[in-house]
Amino acid sequence: MTVVLDSSALFEMQDLPDDDCVTVPGVWLELKRHKDPRIAYWEGILRTSSPGPGSMAKVERAAERSGDSGRLSATDTELLALALELDSVLLSDDYSMQNIAQLIGVKCVPVATRGIKKVWKWAYRCKGCGKMYDSDKTECDVCGHGLKSVRRR
Ligand SMILES: [Zn+2]
Repeated sequence: MTVVLDSSALFEMQDLPDDDCVTVPGVWLELKRHKDPRIAYWEGILRTSSPGPGSMAKVERAAERSGDSGRLSATDTELLALALELDSVLLSDDYSMQNIAQLIGVKCVPVATRGIKKVWKWAYRCKGCGKMYDSDKTECDVCGHGLKSVRRR
């Protein structure tokens, strides 16, 4: 199954579902703006794709019909259009997106109800000596190198 994820879903999740996970370029920009430590990990497993103008127009028309167009960003529109094109499930906690998804026949699932939250923690490892830390810091106490977020095993 293909799953399209918006940033509300990504911010909420500790891990991605075991599906073909796709998002649009605008979501990466949001993640990078928040300096999300999971970016490096997600880059390996989250595909990026952009929808065509036909499905974008369909989403825009639905948004106007439902009165959600003012609340829908360009990125939201792309996510909905991509989910429509790929005939995939959209994972989002955004009400406007859920609304429009229903109008265009896309199955939209909020993260909480999907029970995806597999809890796993982040740790931070020094790029120099490899010492592990529970929280991020600008440099390692031991050797002064920067830290890198890693998935704790
Ligand atoms: Zn170190």
